[in-house]
Amino acid sequence: MYHHVKQLMYTVNVGTPDPKFGNMLLEQFGGANGELAAAMQYSIQGLNCDDPERKDLLMDIGTEELSHLEVVGTLARLHLKPTKNQRSAAEADPLIAIAGGGGASLYNSQGDPWTADYLKITGELDVDLRSNIAAEARAKIVYERLINFTDDPGTIDALQFLMTREITHMKAFTLALESMGKDRFSIGLIPPTPGLVNQYFNDSTGENEMGDTDARGPWNQGGDWEFVEAPAFEPFKSEKAGTRQSASSAESQGDGHAKKRSAAASSKATY
Ligand code: MN
Ligand code: MN
Repeated sequence: MYHHVKQLMYTVNVGTPDPKFGNMLLEQFGGANGELAAAMQYSIQGLNCDDPERKDLLMDIGTEELSHLEVVGTLARLHLKPTKNQRSAAEADPLIAIAGGGGASLYNSQGDPWTADYLKITGELDVDLRSNIAAEARAKIVYERLINFTDDPGTIDALQFLMTREITHMKAFTLALESMGKDRFSIGLIPPTPGLVNQYFNDSTGENEMGDTDARGPWNQGGDWEFVEAPAFEPFKSEKAGTRQSASSAESQGDGHAKKRSAAASSKATY
């Protein structure tokens, strides 16, 4: 059950209202990475969660996000207040001024209505926790950008609080995921196809004057990686779709295989 306490989670003070900044703040009220989205995502994940310990985590943080919604909504309302009766202020957000009477509504900074499409809920706990870690990272960076666009000390103070809590949540979700003891690259029950899973396709090739290069790093070399050079220009390794190999690894497998490759390439029947 929910209960409302008539006190904000963090005190909000606004010096000089800035309606244009109030409009930007709506991104964290009714936007894709905002507080309502976070509150709903975690609470509904929690509702569906069969793991009582991590369900408690989801409900704790989902509920805190509702308190954040109240803080950022209060902040937005104070900044948007002049849109109630000042023409120049109203121009900062006509939707809020004309339809909303100067109060915060569940829109983003561009006037798009909040939508459940923002939510990532799969019902697979570890997958959901990964989504939540990413959601917290996005919320953090949006708060950071908002902080960089205001000079109002009270506003910065409240935003700093909200931004900090997102890192706290990111930490809790990350540790909850790690505590499940799952392999980093194991999702669900059906194992990926051996071999294919370790093939890195070099599908973007060449260099240019903008500094774009064919980069190598731990994401495509070392360990189990098999680097497959420009698969679009290579013949298929076999009749089976999706299994290709680089020219260098084909050569190392001897003449028999190379003949099979060239036969397949010339007939084109197996494409
Ligand atoms: Mn939050
Ligand atoms: Mn959060």
